[in-house]
Amino acid sequence: MKILTLLLTLLVFSVQAEEYEAVSVEVKAQKLIGDAYYVPGMSGAATEFEGFISNAGFVVTTEGVVVFDALGTPSLANAMLGEIRKVTDQPIKLVIVSHYHADHIYGLQVFKNEGAQIWAPKGTWDYLDSETAETLLDSRRNALFPWVNDETHLVEPDRIIDKDTEFSLGEHRFLISYFGKVHSDGDMSLLSATDQTLYSGDIIFEGRIPFVGDADIIKWAKTLDRVRNMQVEYFVPGHGSASNQPKQTMDLTYRYLNFLLDKLGKAVEEMDQFEETYDTIDWSEFENQPAFDAANRKNAYAVYLYLERVLD
Ligand SMILES: [Zn+2]
Repeated sequence: MKILTLLLTLLVFSVQAEEYEAVSVEVKAQKLIGDAYYVPGMSGAATEFEGFISNAGFVVTTEGVVVFDALGTPSLANAMLGEIRKVTDQPIKLVIVSHYHADHIYGLQVFKNEGAQIWAPKGTWDYLDSETAETLLDSRRNALFPWVNDETHLVEPDRIIDKDTEFSLGEHRFLISYFGKVHSDGDMSLLSATDQTLYSGDIIFEGRIPFVGDADIIKWAKTLDRVRNMQVEYFVPGHGSASNQPKQTMDLTYRYLNFLLDKLGKAVEEMDQFEETYDTIDWSEFENQPAFDAANRKNAYAVYLYLERVLD
């Protein structure tokens, strides 16, 4: 009987060990304050560092763990789960997803397997129903192999959040701020009120030029005005380092978006062509920031087209 149990245990362990390819990047949880932690990703493009380029976080309560975002591969999420297990053996109750972009959701299946409920912002289905979602997953199965592979799949949310939502777990109080379509089809942040820690998601990129894509940049700038008024001790951006200086952590994204709006807004109003506008703008305030060369021109063009549409 004992031998059978041992064999079964070995079998279970070997199956679990095979489930997710190990990562070589260092996935380490950092304690911020109280029961709030975060896992800082590295600064790079989507497929660099084995996809470990975004942040995730978790809060440990007496009734279970609340996770914020799930990193860019199941392997990374599995490594994060290992970090959570160093702190607590409480069940993973909830994953709050800031938005459905690949670098924040490909790890979801790991937490789903743990029995967690997935809460995601309204707009998530626009992403899940889109062709882009499948095409991108296919291309990441190549670019991020073996960490993203045929076993990797998109996980549907259990609950859609479409307004500011408060909830409690154990003695911890939480507030989800729902922002609408800002950086993506739907964005939200999580505040652990008990720990005075805000997990912002990708409305803030610290230490690098943000990815604008098809964002609603006017709404984004307004959202930042709102978030800048929130009083918190610790601020965890979607990308870049967390800090206890929230205004400073938000500063680059805030200045950059308002700069784009101002300069390109003027150009659109005066019906200037994009090419010449771009060349005459003095970018020196931002050109030494990481990801400037990769992202700035694309961002500027996206904002120019967006403003042409909305200022018409
Ligand atoms: Zn991101």
